[in-house]
Amino acid sequence: MFITDTKRWGYTRKDGEVVFNWQLSALPPEIGEYVVVHELVHLVYMNHKRSFHSKMVSLIPDYKVKEKILHNFIAINPKFENEHLRDRNAE
Ligand SMILES: [Zn+2]
Repeated sequence: MFITDTKRWGYTRKDGEVVFNWQLSALPPEIGEYVVVHELVHLVYMNHKRSFHSKMVSLIPDYKVKEKILHNFIAINPKFENEHLRDRNAE
């Protein structure tokens, strides 16, 4: 497992490595939990098909609601921030 800077909240690589955005720690706990569970279920189902959905519902029955709430939060893209600062310093 890695915790790193990424635009995404988390993702699971084909080799089974799960990567999380450190900014997850700033989300409401139940929303952060949804992201972690989502990625861990990808270790079993590498898609968003019916079997993935069934597993998610068995673990977090209202996961669709949490998914929607998550869309209200935007992770800061560190690359963008750095470029922005560089441009500002150049002025
Ligand atoms: Zn997914």
